This record gives sequence, C-alpha cells and structure tokens, in this order.
Amino acid sequence: MRLIGRNDLFLLVGLTAALFTIISRPLGRVVDYARAIDHSWDLQLVPGLVILAVVFIFHQVRKRHESHTQALAADAEARQAEARVAEMERLVNFGQALGESLDHAAIGAVARQHLPALAVGRGAWAVALNDAAWHPLAVVADRSVAECESSARKALEAGDAASVPVAGDICFPMVVGRHPVGVLGVDADPPLADHQRIVLTAAAALLAGALQNAELFEVVHENSVRDSLTGCFNRQHALEVIDGELRRARRSRLPLAVVMFDLDHFKEVNDHYGHLCGDTVLAAIGQRMKTVLRGSDLKCRWGGEEFLVLLPDTPPAGAERVAELLRRDLEEHAVRWNVNDIQVDIRVTASFGMASVTPGEIDATAIIARADAALYRAKASGRNRVCAEGPPDQLGGR
Ligand code: GH3
Ligand code: MG
Ligand code: MG
Repeated sequence: MRLIGRNDLFLLVGLTAALFTIISRPLGRVVDYARAIDHSWDLQLVPGLVILAVVFIFHQVRKRHESHTQALAADAEARQAEARVAEMERLVNFGQALGESLDHAAIGAVARQHLPALAVGRGAWAVALNDAAWHPLAVVADRSVAECESSARKALEAGDAASVPVAGDICFPMVVGRHPVGVLGVDADPPLADHQRIVLTAAAALLAGALQNAELFEVVHENSVRDSLTGCFNRQHALEVIDGELRRARRSRLPLAVVMFDLDHFKEVNDHYGHLCGDTVLAAIGQRMKTVLRGSDLKCRWGGEEFLVLLPDTPPAGAERVAELLRRDLEEHAVRWNVNDIQVDIRVTASFGMASVTPGEIDATAIIARADAALYRAKASGRNRVCAEGPPDQLGGR
C-alpha cells in the first residue's frame, strides 16, 4: 500500500519547505562546520556529497524505470499465456466434439462449427480423401469446393511437410501413419504466427484421427450386419430393416413384398465338389443378386443356402416378376470350378416363395412365414420355380 499518493505531492512539498525553514539555521551551521573541516583537513566534502546525492537519485530513477519495463513485460507475457490457454481450450473442445463424430457428415458439422475459431477469423476449409476420391467436409472460406480440392491435391503432391503453401492457402495435410486422409486449408494472408501454425497442425491431426475412426467404425458396422461370404445382409439386420419397412408401408400405404429362395439339391454340390466349391457357388449367388436386383432391394442370407429379398414399393405381380427374373438368371449362370485341372460348370437352381404385405400388417415374422410356406410349395411341386403365397390348397407354382 502506498503511503503517499499523487494528490499528496503538494502537501509533501509544503512540509519539506516548512522543515527546511525550521532547520535552515542548524543546517547552515552543519554546512559551515563541514566547510571548516574541508578547510582544516584540505578536503572537498560538500561537492562530494552533492555528486553522491545526484548519483543516488539517478540510480533510483533508473531502477524505477527498469521495474516498470519488467512489469509491462510480465503483463504482456500473462496476456499471451491467457491467449494460449484459450487456444488450447478451443483445440480440446474441437477434439471432444470430433470424438463423438462417427461419420463424415458429423465430422463435417463439427469442422464447420469449430474451424472459424481455430483459424481465428481467417477463411478455412477441410476436405477428406477416401479411395482416391475427395469429399468436402467444411468450407468456411471464400473458395469453391473444386478450388479446395485442387489446393489439397497440390499440397499432398508437394511432399510430407506439416504445412504447405499453395496459391492463396496454407495447407495442413491430415495423415494417419503415412496415409493421407484429407487436407485442412486456411487463407495464407495475413501470415500465420508460429503458435497459429501449431494449433492448425494439431487441428489437422485431430481431423485425421476422427476420419480414421469413422472409417473403422463403418467397417466394424458393415461386418456386424453383413455376411462376408455372399456380401448379403445377415438375418438379424434384415429383421430390423423389415420391421422398419413394414411400418413405412403402413404409413405410406405402398406395397411391399418378401421373396425367399432356397438352392435346389445344394447338398449334392458339396458332396460332389467339396464345401469350398459350395462356398464359391454361394458367393456367386450373392453377386448375381447384386446384378439382377435394385440397389434399394434388401438382399439377405437368411440361413445356409436360403436367401431373402425385401422389395419395397413393389406390388405382388411385380415381385413375382423379379423372383422369376432372378430364378432364370441363377439357372443360366453357371459357376466355373476347377476339378483336377479340368474346368467344370456348376449349375444350380433355386425354388422361390413370394408373399406380399396385407393392409396394416406390421408383423415381420408373419409375412416371412407366408413367403417360406410358398417356397416349400415350390419345392414340393418340383423345384426351380416361383410360388406366390395363397390359400393352403392352392398351388401358385408354374
Ligand atoms: P433342397 O432342394 O431340398 O433344398 O435340397 P438341399 O440339398 O439344398 O437341402 P438340404 O437342407 O438337405 O441341404 C442344404 C445344404 O446346404 C447342406 C449344407 O451342406 C449346405 N450349406 C449350408 N450352408 C453352407 C455354407 O455356408 N457353405 C457350403 N459350402 N454349404 C452350405
Ligand atoms: Mg436347399
Ligand atoms: Mg435350405
């Protein structure tokens, strides 16, 4: 706490003047006495004291100036440290938000929200690279997607530096291992300070990790819903999709059909040529389904050599046509198999059952059971044919 403030200066000067007046005479006598000593001892006491006093005052002023400069520097340092902490906080928030993003759309939304703050007001963009194709994640800059992709491509061609100047951008490649997964770019003007460069390099690394996570998550999810041999969905996933489609059909009053088919005498293929050959045939069936059916049709491996197809927005007659198309396609496409260096054509046929959703129906197991019953009628009436559901006594085979 300061004892004397700026406003007390006038009072202090007055007090000093009064004190000087009070002690001026004794002071004069001290000076006279000092002069007498000077004279008798041949000394220069008074000038020496004056020099000492001036040096002391000068030293005090310099010390004061120095501590003022130090205080200013400490203040600036404290403000810089605060700015760095805020930068770190923004990076942490970005990382946390990315940690919850498991697909490209979510990563793009997080990038759009956080990049303006991380790039501190300058334009910023991010594009992902997947299977040699570019996908825009976020563009919060005065650039077109094509311009961002062009800069990103040039940045990756330039080598493996953490940041690469390209045209009006500074690009930060996103790399996982040595594998580029995207590029983060910011406006090159005004020039980036070192700490901004570090923040953006870290942001690019966080984005790279998030993209890699999303890719792994997709692979894990695909593996959990698909059968690896045929590429078809598994039974569990199919049941979930059928449930959803039944509800949708009830709301939209659009038709929906289920086709089930089972390979004919497939045991004989295994018995004659071995299980490896049987597996190859099953994989080929999956391929044929992909070729013949629409992308929107659900293709499922229901069991060993039994398949299910869900045909949204398809009336019964249309579903029967699709089943017949697939039946013929399987019959016509033999699978090549090598037996003791001789190529043999394995031909398999299948029996099909078709059932269509009834108005208001939401029970997946009921419609599947009707398709299954129709399939067994197809088997019973000679195999390699399509049967539509119908009354138990009526055979729909042809
Ligand atoms: P049907 O015309 O009555 O359907 O005769 P099928 O021989 O096809 O029927 P069955 O149910 O007797 O035999 C089905 C065969 O499918 C038995 C099994 O070895 C074979 N199978 C099931 N799953 C697989 C598989 O994943 N790989 C191979 N190679 N064979 C399989
Ligand atoms: Mg069979
Ligand atoms: Mg079977």
